[in-house]
Amino acid sequence: MSLVQNKVVLVTGASRGIGRAIATTFAKAGANVAFTYLSSVEKGQALEQELAAFGITAKGYRSDASSYTESEKLVEDVLADFGTIDILINNAGITRDGLLMRMSEEQWDEVIRVNLKSIFNLTKAVTKPMMKAKSGSIINMTSIVGIKGNAGQSNYAASKAGIIGFTKSIALELGSRNIRCNAIAPGFIETEMTEELNEAAIEEWTKSIPMKRGGQATEVADVCLFLGSDMSSYVTGQVISVNGGLLT
Ligand code: NAP
Repeated sequence: MSLVQNKVVLVTGASRGIGRAIATTFAKAGANVAFTYLSSVEKGQALEQELAAFGITAKGYRSDASSYTESEKLVEDVLADFGTIDILINNAGITRDGLLMRMSEEQWDEVIRVNLKSIFNLTKAVTKPMMKAKSGSIINMTSIVGIKGNAGQSNYAASKAGIIGFTKSIALELGSRNIRCNAIAPGFIETEMTEELNEAAIEEWTKSIPMKRGGQATEVADVCLFLGSDMSSYVTGQVISVNGGLLT
């Protein structure tokens, strides 16, 4: 029996990068996968077919995670289509980098809305059905930047640090209901998000990583699989780093 056979997972932001790897990893492990995308419509639609090829049920929804009403509607739709949500993975995220001196109010607001408010939106929406089911696993994608800070990313760092506080609070609130809530803090993972960095910055990061390489999206997805499955049935309120030893 696979780790998450017949479980239903909802992954936000799965059209690209880490989210796409998470959706694929869960489908391979036998879970039925509901996922979202926003601007990458073609990629999102193509993923639905790719996942279904693993013999599971897969459905993509175009939904803005930063919108409270769209998130409520998304959870209603997923429940109608799949019957339940066992695992929620809040993965959608963006960067709008700049030194504070040059950062606009829009850059600040957008990052907080997409990265942090989205997690409130989706977690709140799944809480009722998970309480009814008396079980659930919620996984929030934070970042090494939320732990350590990063010059030029004060908006992103604040959003990701906020996710850690939120995750621990939800673990405390919902632990007695058998609903677990954990965060994953990736370090430098090779995706379109990190492709935007200049070569010098990438070289600098790589030199400082004990494992001397960037991580792959699948290496983050594997930790999601652990936290989503019963293999982690006594793990909640934790932040698990996936960073090649970067903070060691
Ligand atoms: P990515 O390649 O840029 O992909 C981001 C995903 O989020 C896309 O699928 C995008 O969908 C989706 N998204 C963005 N805004 C959205 C919204 N408002 N509603 C729904 N979906 C939205 O990023 P990634 O590198 O895979 O990162 C995934 C997560 O890991 C993020 O939370 C990021 O902060 C975190 N992380 C990444 C790294 C890294 O090194 N890559 C390190 C630490 C943490 P569309 O394209 O369809 O809009």
